[in-house]
Amino acid sequence: MPADPVLLDAPSRRRAGAGLRGLATSDVERSQRLRLMRSGALGSVHSWELVTAVDGPGTRLTVFLNGCPLRCQYCHNPDTWSMRDGGPVLASDLLGRVERYRGVFSATGGGLTLSGGEVLMQPAFAARILRGAKELGVHTCLDTSGYLGANATDEMLDDTDLVLLDIKAGDEDTYRRVTGRSLAPTLAFGRRLAERGVAVWVRFVLVPGLTDDPANVAAVADHAAAIEAVRPGTVQRVEVLPFHQMARDKWAELRRAYPLADTEPPTPEATETVREVFRSRGLTTY
Ligand code: SF4
Repeated sequence: MPADPVLLDAPSRRRAGAGLRGLATSDVERSQRLRLMRSGALGSVHSWELVTAVDGPGTRLTVFLNGCPLRCQYCHNPDTWSMRDGGPVLASDLLGRVERYRGVFSATGGGLTLSGGEVLMQPAFAARILRGAKELGVHTCLDTSGYLGANATDEMLDDTDLVLLDIKAGDEDTYRRVTGRSLAPTLAFGRRLAERGVAVWVRFVLVPGLTDDPANVAAVADHAAAIEAVRPGTVQRVEVLPFHQMARDKWAELRRAYPLADTEPPTPEATETVREVFRSRGLTTY
């Protein structure tokens, strides 16, 4: 029998759930597994949890998928980086879990959030889950860096009500320092979301000494404003997330050298100053 879900009130950002409680983990053979993954019938899943006031509106079933092409210095989920480390989960089983919480979602204005890792590493699985959720009448949200936005089909975006789009830095050099990859795909994905009428919540993690340079903050705010300008009303909010040290133990457990081990969180005043930069572009900011 599935264990009872853990209801978390406003937990800290970017954490992975406790596991795959209640989700049948398929024990299909490796060759069959690859075929099912290509078709989207099977996904590599790290964990799930039921959360309130994070990952989108209302109470949400957040599912963390495995696999990510980025290597963010502040990553809270380095155990999701490899697809191989996830548990094989059938889309039908996951959708059964979504259906089970439909009453909770409609009572709270919540829904399903696909997170990671990077959801768009598994576009066929994500598309199948999003389609199934929409057929159940459930609000859907993608939490993504946008780096693999080209993997999202138009049909997939039509099944997505909201995208939590991480803009991790404002220029290519800083973005590469933070993530190891290029910023341009994220910005292109943001413009595409606006053109297709998909709502966006921009997220920016404020890390002293890494992303807090005023020129970088101004550039991120300009990018968010540019997405909003494509179709006014697209960027419903900007979340400025102050860096904290909750990932340090996880990096240690994985025996990875944590580059931000000695970094302090920003002060509340510094965080508020950054929020003001976004507000000065006419954006609603938390
Ligand atoms: S995008 Fe960055 S923060 Fe998110 S899972 Fe990948 S490495 Fe971690």
